[in-house]
Amino acid sequence: MEIITGVDALQAKTLGWRREGLEVGFVPTMGFLHRGHTSLMDLARPRCDRLVVSIFVNPLQFGPGEDLDRYPRDPGGDAAKCDAAGVDVLFIPDDFYPPDFTTSVDVAEVSLGLCGGKRPGHFKGVTTVVSRLFGLVQPTLAVFGEKDYQQLAVIRRMVRDLAMPITIVGGPLVRDDDGLALSSRNAYLSAEQRARGLSLSRALNAMAAAAAAGERDVAALKALGAGLIEADRLDYLELVDAESLAPIERLERPGRALAAGFFGPTRLIDNVSVNVAVNVAASPG
Ligand code: AMP
Repeated sequence: MEIITGVDALQAKTLGWRREGLEVGFVPTMGFLHRGHTSLMDLARPRCDRLVVSIFVNPLQFGPGEDLDRYPRDPGGDAAKCDAAGVDVLFIPDDFYPPDFTTSVDVAEVSLGLCGGKRPGHFKGVTTVVSRLFGLVQPTLAVFGEKDYQQLAVIRRMVRDLAMPITIVGGPLVRDDDGLALSSRNAYLSAEQRARGLSLSRALNAMAAAAAAGERDVAALKALGAGLIEADRLDYLELVDAESLAPIERLERPGRALAAGFFGPTRLIDNVSVNVAVNVAASPG
């Protein structure tokens, strides 16, 4: 595996591959890698000829007072994990943005609610960095995790709207054995905060179970989930249309339950799919 730190060197490498007709896969990350990240590499690896992973803690997607300055880092461990996953190039940029960088990419609608509502400017930072990364890596395929379900929807919309010739693949959310969604930020949690953090997945799963048992009223499902979450501060708990992320009142189509909350100073997010109950009595035959 080659480690590249310069933007020009990276682009020269990937343009060379593309001229040879090679399919380039890409997994962008902020590092401190765990099984959630490597699962995306495992998804990409058989679908491309060359695989690039980036590690860049992008200042544009952090708000004032967020954890940009203390985001966990482990470059040595990350490189070993990428190497083991069969990554060809690990891109860890030194100077990522030109000093006079002024362009931004902003996807409306799907980035407005949920995390976008609570972290103003966050998705604009994400779509801007991902656009520049796409320009540098020239991927034919890029993999993003369903852990960040809204981010995946925003990226899909950006790629469609801007006609970027890139296949976006979503990877399933990977959890720890106890059910906590794997996240680099879990490293911040005390044992007590982590135990309460588990209430996010417990609440979302309870909503999914109630829906599977026939409950279609979204307000009732949300009340059920909200009663189970043990956050110090709940940012949001929503049940939305799984595709458009638009608010719904009744569950008539596949839905997605998403939650974000603070456990101490640490903000955790989680989501599960919520499917309408199969009405056996109404099925034909
Ligand atoms: P991050 O390093 O947090 O920016 O995440 C980089 C990529 O890994 C994003 O596409 C995330 O959605 C994905 N990811 C992070 N955690 C998980 C997880 N537990 N399961 C699946 N994908 C994940």
